[in-house]
Amino acid sequence: MTERATETPEPGMVLRTPRGRLFRFDPGALCLELLLTSDPGGLPWTYETLREPADLVRWAAESRLPDGLPLVVGDEELERARVLRGALWRMTRARARGEELAPADTQVVNEAAAAPPLVAAVTPSGERVWAPAATGSALLSTVARDAVELFTGPNAHRVRECEAVECALHFVDTSRPGRRRWCAMGRCGNRHKVRAHRARTALPGDGAGRAEGEA
Ligand SMILES: [Zn+2]
Repeated sequence: MTERATETPEPGMVLRTPRGRLFRFDPGALCLELLLTSDPGGLPWTYETLREPADLVRWAAESRLPDGLPLVVGDEELERARVLRGALWRMTRARARGEELAPADTQVVNEAAAAPPLVAAVTPSGERVWAPAATGSALLSTVARDAVELFTGPNAHRVRECEAVECALHFVDTSRPGRRRWCAMGRCGNRHKVRAHRARTALPGDGAGRAEGEA
């Protein structure tokens, strides 16, 4: 038996809070990981990380896609990635609110999904590899197809926004009980626990309610 070269990595992506603290957030689906490259949803997630084609290549490497993708992205594909991300964001928010999806957004996703997706291959030793020369267009197709499966699949009604009022992170709850409330226990889950504890123990007027800072 050969040793596994790498352990299965934890799912999700590493994010940075406005104060610079790192935490891991697993939104539960590839298409939702693309939303983490920007903040279409308002404070405090104001940033854009897809500034040049290499940024999309880096996102793909950090995403839940298997490693080793030989990806080359062009400027036009980067622009389409931002358009797809915007459509996915509005669809995700609509789903989380129980609203209908906008036809203009589903059209963006469906057009991206219609292109040929990323292709995997098997080696003679039974290893999974990516087929050579993956394009940004193929990457976007794979992301869009993931979105089609998510928004039409059994977990479509489990797309949610983190319950913390100041948090705009969205995820699909893939847990068996289906009671996931927070983006990450290491962020909003713990902050909620700390606040609940303070609320139980605070005396009136001691300023405990003011301490809203991050852990
Ligand atoms: Zn949160």
